[in-house]
Amino acid sequence: MGLFSRNKTVFVDSDILVIGGGMAGCGATYESRYWGRDKKVIVVEKANIERSGAVAQGLYAINCYMGMQWDENQPEDHVRYARNDLMGLVREDLGYDIARHVDSTVHKFEEWGLPIMKDPETGRYQREGQWQIMIHGESYKPIVAEAARKAATEVYNRIMVTHLLMDKTKPNRVAGAVGFNVRSGEFYVFRAKAVIVAAGGASHIFKPRAVGEGMGRTWYAPWSSASAYALPILTGAKMTQMENRIVLTRFKDGYGPVGAYFLHLKTYTENAYGDEYETTWYEHTKELVGDYIDRHPVPTCLRNHAFLEEVKAGRGPIRMVTKEVFQDPHKETIGWENFLGMTIGQAVVWASQNIDPKHTNPELTTSEPYVMGSHATCSGAWASGPEDYAPDEYQWGYNRMMTVDGLFGAGDTIGGTAHKFSSGSFTEGRIAGKAAVNYVNDLGTEQPEVREAEYEGLKTVVFQPMENYEVGRNEIVAGTVSPSYMLPIHGLQRLEKIMDEYVGGISAHYTTNEPLLTRGLELLNMLKEDLAHLGAEDLHQLQRAWELHHRVTASECVTQHTMFRTETRWPGYYYRADHPKLDDTDWHCFTLSQYDRESGAWELEKAPVYHIVD
Ligand SMILES: Cc1cc2nc3c(=O)[nH]c(=O)nc-3n(C[C@H](O)[C@H](O)[C@H](O)COP(=O)(O)OP(=O)(O)OC[C@H]3O[C@@H](n4cnc5c(N)ncnc54)[C@H](O)[C@@H]3O)c2cc1C
Repeated sequence: MGLFSRNKTVFVDSDILVIGGGMAGCGATYESRYWGRDKKVIVVEKANIERSGAVAQGLYAINCYMGMQWDENQPEDHVRYARNDLMGLVREDLGYDIARHVDSTVHKFEEWGLPIMKDPETGRYQREGQWQIMIHGESYKPIVAEAARKAATEVYNRIMVTHLLMDKTKPNRVAGAVGFNVRSGEFYVFRAKAVIVAAGGASHIFKPRAVGEGMGRTWYAPWSSASAYALPILTGAKMTQMENRIVLTRFKDGYGPVGAYFLHLKTYTENAYGDEYETTWYEHTKELVGDYIDRHPVPTCLRNHAFLEEVKAGRGPIRMVTKEVFQDPHKETIGWENFLGMTIGQAVVWASQNIDPKHTNPELTTSEPYVMGSHATCSGAWASGPEDYAPDEYQWGYNRMMTVDGLFGAGDTIGGTAHKFSSGSFTEGRIAGKAAVNYVNDLGTEQPEVREAEYEGLKTVVFQPMENYEVGRNEIVAGTVSPSYMLPIHGLQRLEKIMDEYVGGISAHYTTNEPLLTRGLELLNMLKEDLAHLGAEDLHQLQRAWELHHRVTASECVTQHTMFRTETRWPGYYYRADHPKLDDTDWHCFTLSQYDRESGAWELEKAPVYHIVD
């Protein structure tokens, strides 16, 4: 028995366990209560749901709203839009399901107190673009969290979930989860009839542009640590499109968003010499991807591609032309306010670098890659679709249930459904919550049970990094480097370097090939071996240690998928230099992976893409 196995164990029973209280988790909690008045609904969150997740510091726009009440868009239109942006590959059944319900979610947000800007002439919500509406969103997350708090039986904040628990009798059925309180060190065993994973996306798996002291400044939230992927992967749940990482064009050094600038302020970009450059790359891009370059709007990855090629040709930096539009005081205010509600750091960067966008066109850059399922890419778990809309092949159980019984997901967790954003993630949480209640109702007396040996074994494993530190620190004679353990930050930097250099990060110009991926996997395996020797000096570092574990698992999955898809489907997100062209004959399909916990082997396969909407 290890030193820290003596930490108290707390048992919590529930009907529905929601892991992660971000947008999707709050939606899942709210809806589980609506359909399951008598159910015990528990939320477990590693931070505090009041200000947790990717929406923590607020947003300036809700990026997914149809406006069906004014006949602005229909759900089918959104499916077409997302399909086009993802170069043909989305789960149309899941996307349609979100789009048909998302407006009601946004109306609830307004009812709960979220200020949504109105067009003074029409009285409708102020549009930023075809899908986006503008909000005064600094308090977006606390408003949404209040609804979840009131709906939940109990919210357990400051508990990081490290592993899922499986059922004693049915090996492919989930039975709960374990984790630890990051403040008190108590070990938690959550027993549940259904589990909804809503633990956000993955930043910091590729080396960020901001390093050293600035490494906490990434575009996607630095606390999005891939638990949404690692937890299901380790149970054997199938994952999809994990190669489909996202790279974003953002204002340099602060990762400030460009959506309001392009869509609302109508600013545009130019190269270092003041020239338009996208048309320069038209023929070249057409050779790579064919007609996809002629689609409207031009898919996000292809716009990145022109940017990257122009920079490679030595005509960078690319700048956003703000000087013209900022002469209008109203638009100037909007330009600044856009950061104040969402990315205040960008305003600080500009102030510190003497950039006044009224007089200087600010530089743009492309970010390091992120893995996520709710923004303009769709990595995540392979989920069963809605029964009234999904083709047979996409239906094996309850809506949003993964390939593991009783295990549901929403938001960044679920793959194949890009462009759901904050409102769509909450909506998908609602869909998963309703389905989970049905699942629990149908269970009857045949309910999952956890194994004592499993959670007791995990207790030792979870606290092992503290034990490693406690014992190993005696060998240190100077500094912090121990011969027998590795600190989480060192492991993280090693992971980021491997992913960056071998799997298509910034320093490889987003480019990889089979030999690089093969070596990357070898190095990831060596890193995995060393994770058993992580050392954590306190509970905070223990959390970092488990975040690293989750990031490494997700990274391995990303690398396997990138190896499997022998084409370059999304130039601008990443390039397979050995297969530089889009190949619709062989690869107009989803990629699926499954990890075998016992053998450590991955199995990859293709799944068909069904086009349901014309
Ligand atoms: C910079 C940025 C700008 C964006 N701009 C917009 C925008 O303008 N409009 C828009 O609509 N959307 C925007 N989005 C997208 C939106 O934020 C996401 O789509 C949405 O938050 C995804 O919801 P989620 O619940 O999947 O993840 P999150 O909201 O990130 O929630 C995940 C939760 O899980 C918790 N968690 C993670 N791991 C664990 C664990 N192991 N144990 C317990 N808890 C855990 C996290 O702390 C977090 O609370 C933006 C995102 C970012 C990062």
